[in-house]
Amino acid sequence: MRPFEKLTLENSMNAFEYGKTLVPGGVLGIRRPYNFVEGEYPIFVENGKGGQIVDVDGNEYVDFLCAYGPIILGYREQEIDEAVVRQILEKGFCFSLTQQYQNELAEKLRELVPSAEMSIFVKTGSDATTLSIRLARAYTSRTKVMRCGYHGWHDWCVEVKGGIPEKLYEDIYEFQYNDLAALEKLLAEHRDDTAAIIITPFGHPLAKKLQCPRAGFLEGVRKLADEYNVVLIFDEIRTGFRIAMGGAQAYYNVTPDLSCLGKAMANGYAIAAVCGKEEIMKKAESDVFVSSTFFPNSLGYIAALKTIEILQRDHVLEVIWKKGQQFMGRLETILDKYDVGAELSGIGPMFFITFKSDTEKVYRKRRNEFYTQLIRQGIFMQPYHHGYICYRHSEDDLNKSLKAVENSLQIVLDKYGKF
Ligand code: PMP
Repeated sequence: MRPFEKLTLENSMNAFEYGKTLVPGGVLGIRRPYNFVEGEYPIFVENGKGGQIVDVDGNEYVDFLCAYGPIILGYREQEIDEAVVRQILEKGFCFSLTQQYQNELAEKLRELVPSAEMSIFVKTGSDATTLSIRLARAYTSRTKVMRCGYHGWHDWCVEVKGGIPEKLYEDIYEFQYNDLAALEKLLAEHRDDTAAIIITPFGHPLAKKLQCPRAGFLEGVRKLADEYNVVLIFDEIRTGFRIAMGGAQAYYNVTPDLSCLGKAMANGYAIAAVCGKEEIMKKAESDVFVSSTFFPNSLGYIAALKTIEILQRDHVLEVIWKKGQQFMGRLETILDKYDVGAELSGIGPMFFITFKSDTEKVYRKRRNEFYTQLIRQGIFMQPYHHGYICYRHSEDDLNKSLKAVENSLQIVLDKYGKF
């Protein structure tokens, strides 16, 4: 099969060059071009609707990144945007006092999320994970933290250590998902100093296969936290309001002491939360200080309330699971047919196509070719980050994507042969 033609990306590239003179690196974090296939992917987006986006050169894509997780329904979801616009025009959202939506949303979380006796609302996932650690340290009067997964860009947990004195993360210890023995060893070593275990309840390590919990793993983590009197925190920034309305904790039936929620809760509007046991959360009454000019801004609350209303009313997560499972089943069949080292991992709402490594590192070329051919066919997936299924991904979007995956695998096979 002939490789597809490279996309016209002139406007993206020009904006990127200009951007570099204004913003360090042009764009930041995971959106930097080297996290895709450099030169093949767009860098600036113009608009989006449903499950699709359009870049600044007018190229259209079926988007499986879903803004890295917040988009659970779809882009420009009318009911949500209208509720937000109404709030802006009729009441306002930025005041010196708190609007009552805070209580409404906290009540909703208490109803839906098993660990949520009380809630504190913040703006980003990193705000939430950092606050959860501070609460745990205040509650236990201990310092050390065992962590597993990506928990944001703050000093205590970010991978890239530039600009961060060692003393700000020297009490943080990392263990791998599904490795209960490693966690137990760490806890035994730091028995009276450990304040918290923070873990993503579903495994999504960067650029690696997605991982379901092994039988007994989450239960084992819970048991160890109890044995060592440590606060157990689930970082549900990606899994909350996506795997289940009550998060992965409801789905896997293991309840942490504190939980961090964000992303899908408000379909793209900025809001995140820490929720959990009353006696720990109440540390924020006096010992722990939480305040930010924008935390009480109510647009995130309005969007979250409306998003949750729609998720419940339209049984959205059931639809996403079903759609995702069918899509993954069909992907699996295609991947099996082309023996080029491509592997599928995940669960209905979250999936990832990775490539088996080989000693000569040809897998990197296979992966680059595969994702290059995909983006050229208008399918926006990422070589180093898993994809999501959203509610508005249509039958057409998914069929088109399956066809594109098959074409891309054929091209990889033609060029590099069987794995
Ligand atoms: N925890 C997890 C599991 C995440 O995926 C992320 C964001 N990717 C964060 C925390 C940090 O959230 P934010 O980028 O909103 O600060």
